[in-house]
Amino acid sequence: MSRITGVRGMNDISPTESATWHFVEATAREVLRCYGYREMRPPLVERTELFRRSVGEATDIVEKEMYTFADRNGDSLSLRPECTASCVRAAVEHGWLRAGGQRIWTIGPMFRYERPQKGRYRQFHQLDVEALGFSGPDVDAELILICARLFARLGLGRLRLQLNSLGSRSSQARYRDALVRYFAHHRDRLDEDSERRLATNPLRILDSKDPAMQELIDCAPRITDFLDDESAAHLQGLTDMLDRAGTSWTLNARLVRGLDYYTGPVFEWQTEELGAQNAVCGGGRYDHLIEDIGGSGAPATGFAMGLERIVALLEQQSLAPPPPCPDAYLVAVGGEAQREAHRLAETLRDRVDSLSLTVDAAGGSFRTKLKRADRSGARYALILGDAEVRDARVGVKALRDESEQRSMRQSALAEFLRG
Ligand code: AMP
Repeated sequence: MSRITGVRGMNDISPTESATWHFVEATAREVLRCYGYREMRPPLVERTELFRRSVGEATDIVEKEMYTFADRNGDSLSLRPECTASCVRAAVEHGWLRAGGQRIWTIGPMFRYERPQKGRYRQFHQLDVEALGFSGPDVDAELILICARLFARLGLGRLRLQLNSLGSRSSQARYRDALVRYFAHHRDRLDEDSERRLATNPLRILDSKDPAMQELIDCAPRITDFLDDESAAHLQGLTDMLDRAGTSWTLNARLVRGLDYYTGPVFEWQTEELGAQNAVCGGGRYDHLIEDIGGSGAPATGFAMGLERIVALLEQQSLAPPPPCPDAYLVAVGGEAQREAHRLAETLRDRVDSLSLTVDAAGGSFRTKLKRADRSGARYALILGDAEVRDARVGVKALRDESEQRSMRQSALAEFLRG
């Protein structure tokens, strides 16, 4: 029969790779606990309308990248392409903000129908951190410091922080007018995508990767010249706090982000080590989103970190932890020993905290079984033959050094493994 393969752009995380994922997830969990953030878990599927209204009709994500389908009722649903909208939807729906500001996080898969390449997939994972109901630059700073601490705990260096401000909606409107005037004046130099964006979403033109457009984009008006006093003061407050905390940053007036809901400060952490997919984390303030999806207006800010890219950086910088090995591998030889093996193993697991013990399960000769014990990476092979069962003993063979095999009373084994 023909072999069924996985879906393009959707990856398996192998048993060897999962140790690195656990390391990232456990470190993130711990760092977020240190800052008083609590986990939530929204569903993977939402009403399509949620993303249309939040991410924006005229974004690449909503226009071309969503996995959208009608369920059996005819309702239009979408696999989530990002998670901020879901967090906000849940907070509004369940009235969480009535109890005051909410610091929340979630982690899991997102889905975008993009052209797969290294670092860009159709199912990918994000750590999503949101601070809902807070208006000051202190919380924007807190989010950036969370990222910095997480990178430090993972051991990752060489990540650069880029900052910009997209300003209030009125600043954005003035900026959009200026951009439209500028690009319309140079319409003959726009590529097809940008020509279309001119009418729908001119800010997105700044995001174009087309090399022929770069000079035009470089000379375009800059959002930082259009910020109103309040937006400028907010950005100043944020950069001041980052300076005091010793976190370096660069202003990048071209940083516009791919989602429409941002207002005020936005940021991106970038690396030079992953080729074209250089963004490992992006976020910013979205003070109108809560209201836009039906809540009573409240400010908010957040970020999403791409976990595939963090895992790739760890591997590249030789920081990925080795896959875990069992502490011991139990080999049973003979009918009675095989019947007894799981009783002994269960007793040991009861007695030794967090013991990792594999019980050999496939057949073969004693030699083959010992080879498997060695390949498992375990420190000890525990050898149980029928004679050992009769005498309540077990053979203990150290697999990682040259010491002699010894025979031990089963009752002494727990103490030995604990040591
Ligand atoms: P965004 O939600 O587009 O702001 O993306 C936030 C972060 O998620 C990016 O900085 C990337 O690290 C990661 N990311 C976004 N899209 C993808 C993708 N298709 N594949 C892998 N990672 C992605």
